[in-house]
Amino acid sequence: MSHTFSDLGLSSELIHTLSGLGLETPTEVQQHAIPHVLRHSDVLAGAQTGTGKTAAYGLPIIDQLSTSPQTGETRALILVPTRELAQQVFDNLTSYAQHTQLNIVVVYGGVSIKKQTEQLKAGADIVIATPGRLLDHLFNKHVSLNAVGCVVFDEADRMLDMGFMPDIQRITKRLPQTRQTLFFSATFETRVKTMAYRLLNDPVEVQVTPQNSTAETVIQMVYPVGKHRKSELLAYLIGANNWQQVLVFTKTKQGSDALAKELKLDGIKAASINGDKSQGARQKALDDFKSGKVRALIATDVAARGLDIQQLEQVVNYDMPYKAEDYIHRIGRTGRAGQAGHAISFMSREEQGLLEAIEVLLDTRLPQEWLAGFEPGQVNVELENHRRQSRSSEKRKLKARLGVHKGRGKKKR
Ligand code: AMP
Repeated sequence: MSHTFSDLGLSSELIHTLSGLGLETPTEVQQHAIPHVLRHSDVLAGAQTGTGKTAAYGLPIIDQLSTSPQTGETRALILVPTRELAQQVFDNLTSYAQHTQLNIVVVYGGVSIKKQTEQLKAGADIVIATPGRLLDHLFNKHVSLNAVGCVVFDEADRMLDMGFMPDIQRITKRLPQTRQTLFFSATFETRVKTMAYRLLNDPVEVQVTPQNSTAETVIQMVYPVGKHRKSELLAYLIGANNWQQVLVFTKTKQGSDALAKELKLDGIKAASINGDKSQGARQKALDDFKSGKVRALIATDVAARGLDIQQLEQVVNYDMPYKAEDYIHRIGRTGRAGQAGHAISFMSREEQGLLEAIEVLLDTRLPQEWLAGFEPGQVNVELENHRRQSRSSEKRKLKARLGVHKGRGKKKR
């Protein structure tokens, strides 16, 4: 097995750049994929975020394009599901290509189209795009895909989850028949496989983590807890363990906002990131989290997709994911590129079935532990009293509004 980037066939210029960025040893997916990409083979790769997959396709693409003549046409297209991932892939590729003449342009929705249009018209060797916004640019003839020799589908499973299949079909119709296709996905349900077979031509298969398994470096634990005590448990864990950076997953947008507010009341700096927020607000929350201004980032599955946060130690599944595959995506945020990480899941009684689905998918049992003081069924007396009081005052108000009097049923008019 190769152990250096030069063994993989990359040029010395690029290796020099990587060295300057502190990247000396290729990760597993890079070792397996790069030689095939350089040989123009189609690649079907099973690799989750955090394995170094962006460089696995980005480095050979940059190497090839930078050593062939620039034509002003777009020669590589990278399709991604979310704006955050688009921006992250752009940042990574731009740093790898810093000593080349390549123009790299990123296009995604939710921001002004004007600047993107100017950049595309100025000539983009590599375009990184979310499907919807790319179609806007294609319909308006801001960019052509006629000269694309290599197309990458990154996080293909999530693109399907987000309903991008019709957009992808429209885009692939505009791509040359003869081309190289690279397909990356963390999970391989039947419909992901179907999409892959449709797009790929005799691909080399690369599977770096066993299918549907979680990153080996992640230590996992499930805490059974009553659903009304989850926020209290989270605040307790953050304080008791002195966690400085924790990514928390909730199932709904409203839930993410509410939890961020509750943590703030407990004196924990928190921000939420979800699809209802503007791109600016999402970016600010992410920047504050990365810089340490915010200790807890509360996210929904869709919003969290593609977040690249270096050395994230702690992920909390505040709500168990509805889709078992999301568990893999969620905990892929920790234990990145060989770092140790912890993934904790809060499970209420109602969520037992969701845990079972995850265990079936992973073909393993996740360890469970009852935390003293938070055992399920244990009643927090203060909290219950408070709830009972507010419930009875709500009832009184309701009865007064309806004109209901004790013992007499509804008031006669
Ligand atoms: P990705 O799976 O592409 O999201 O990458 C996860 C993280 O690993 C990113 O922060 C990369 O900068 C980092 N990374 C990628 N390749 C390497 C490498 N060969 N050595 C160390 N870190 C890497």
